[in-house]
Amino acid sequence: MKIVRVALDVPLPRLFDYLAPDSDESDIGRRANVPFGRALKTGLVMGFAGASAQPADKLKPVAAILRDMPALPADWLALCEFCARYYQTPLGEVASFALPPMLRKGKLPRMPKTPASGPAPAPSAGDAIRAAGTANITPAVAVALPPLLPAQQAAVDEIVSARDFRTFLLHGVTGSGKTEVYLRAIAEVLAGGGQALMLVPEIALTPQLEGRVAARFPSAHIVCANSGMADAARARGFLDAHEGRADIVLGTRLAVFMPLPRLRLIVVDEEHDASFKQQEGLRYSARDVAIWRAHQRDIPIVLGSATPSLETFHHAGSGRYRMLELPKRAVAEAMPEVRVIDTRRQKLQEGLSAELLAALALRLERGEQSLVFLNRRGYAPVLACPPCGWISRCRRCAANLVLHLADKRLRCHHCGFETGIPRACPDCGNVDLLPFGRGTQRLEAMLVERFPQARVLRIDRDSASTPKKWQALLETIHAGGADILVGTQMLAKGHDFPRLTLVGAVGADAALFAADFRAPERLFAQLMQVGGRSGRAELPGEVLIQTEYPDHALYLALVEHDYARFAASQLDERRIAGFPPFSSQAMLRAEAREMAQALDFLAAARAAAEPLAAGVTLYDPVPMRLQRLMTLERGQLLVESLKRPALQAFLARWMERLYSLKMPAGLRWHLDVDPLEF
Ligand code: ADP
Ligand code: ZN
Ligand code: ZN
Repeated sequence: MKIVRVALDVPLPRLFDYLAPDSDESDIGRRANVPFGRALKTGLVMGFAGASAQPADKLKPVAAILRDMPALPADWLALCEFCARYYQTPLGEVASFALPPMLRKGKLPRMPKTPASGPAPAPSAGDAIRAAGTANITPAVAVALPPLLPAQQAAVDEIVSARDFRTFLLHGVTGSGKTEVYLRAIAEVLAGGGQALMLVPEIALTPQLEGRVAARFPSAHIVCANSGMADAARARGFLDAHEGRADIVLGTRLAVFMPLPRLRLIVVDEEHDASFKQQEGLRYSARDVAIWRAHQRDIPIVLGSATPSLETFHHAGSGRYRMLELPKRAVAEAMPEVRVIDTRRQKLQEGLSAELLAALALRLERGEQSLVFLNRRGYAPVLACPPCGWISRCRRCAANLVLHLADKRLRCHHCGFETGIPRACPDCGNVDLLPFGRGTQRLEAMLVERFPQARVLRIDRDSASTPKKWQALLETIHAGGADILVGTQMLAKGHDFPRLTLVGAVGADAALFAADFRAPERLFAQLMQVGGRSGRAELPGEVLIQTEYPDHALYLALVEHDYARFAASQLDERRIAGFPPFSSQAMLRAEAREMAQALDFLAAARAAAEPLAAGVTLYDPVPMRLQRLMTLERGQLLVESLKRPALQAFLARWMERLYSLKMPAGLRWHLDVDPLEF
């Protein structure tokens, strides 16, 4: 009797057995429709069972095995199994997540017909080259490319000569020519008939980047993958990759799950970017999974960044990764001059110093662009009634409602709750409510008033709420339609603004003393990135940072453009504190109607962990920093070990016990391995 083991998208850490009389090994990796409860579910055949733990008369037959697309290969299934194991997530949930929604539902997209051969797949550049038997030609690079700088050439040489697994850190400031290095390495891969996978942060995947890749490889089949795509397009891209038609897959974190039979190179651009870590469901790090995948496939992987994550930088320093440095910019002569403005002894005008205002005026005079960076959207973070102490609070979260004057709303940035602006204080009736603090809208309003002749453009999640609006804003900037940009970190990434010569940063100090130990790392990366926007072409750039802590080590390192020094001092602190990369962490989080319920559950989880926790430190359950979200109270329990394998072994055993703990109704929990948010 043939019994297939099927991974189903249900929150149980096991496979499900079904009878499949006319099935054989070739069905492993195929989707199957199976009865589950009263419904029919689509799952993935993971293997065959000699015998089932279930009594034979309880076993149901599969409804259908879907043989309309090639089975997913063993290495893809192994990738899912790794993620299930490492992130302690049921395999069925992982496999379901790794498939595009349409395929997950048991459907197939309609594939475009190719003119010549009807249903046959379109040949890829790789196919053409293999068919021609000329593995050494470089495809499609008809345009003359500039000669590489020596450092670029050295990097490309090392990458393309790595025939097996190797992790490279390509460390170079914005504009140092990292993308050029990726493209040359990818060209070599395509010339050899291989496929390349390039992962980029969510916000950086723009038509600009797609265009640059497409222009470089006009005859290559390039597949884009991100969560914003229509279902059918995403499924088609997946099949193009899986069936070997795609030469290059360019995508956000989910693209790490693309099956690629001829994969020869993985690139992770801006590897430090937090968007590579998914914060819900399967809480995976696409960068870390990509490294595992490169290891599995025995191929090189390139992690690129101007400000690598401290984990990556540490591994490059210890020799585990190979460091490739691009020490200077490819085009512009010099790095922008960075200066700090001490705001302690001066009266600011709506948050802006006299120096910054003068620098803005100078750029307007010269017809150059400026950018003011403030990583807080809205008009003001809170609306308050000073006489009685009322402040605008979210009803559902332990957070303030942010004042949005542009559309006259109070809005919670955590749960999305919104309401109109009250005419008077709801507590005492006072009509003089005051906005406290400053967001991008307020800065924008101030700049418009101060520089009436300037075209001020605000870029944040509100003004760029859809990819279309975001694209339109980028086009306006490129067409020279803005003199002063005001924006959040959205502006920091991956865009060339040739006439931008001034960057001002305000309100940065808040991150210096944040509770999260990664806050300084993020702040440094953001300031470096946003500063790197200025002075990209012939025009020299200037970066002005307003601060009350002009002597802070972070700012001093920024002034010197000295990432290595900053990283070394941070790594020292982490070593002393025993934080990652010197330890591995996992966070158990629980949410419930009452905080006591969440904390009680975590205490029980901790008690269950104690007998298993050799070599693992268990911390105390505590309320999360954002204690209440969407009316649910939230607590967390951190576990940590100096040895990753010890933590992994512990987590596997702990999870089994967690599934059998008693829970009050409505309590939910999850485990986050290598958490980024504290
Ligand atoms: P990064 O990815 O590090 O920000 P890019 O690869 O985008 O850097 O390069 C920055 C700019 O310099 C781009 O306009 C690119 O075309 C140009 N560039 C890169 N390498 C060279 C080179 N060797 N010669 C001339 N221009 C180059
Ligand atoms: Zn809320
Ligand atoms: Zn009041």
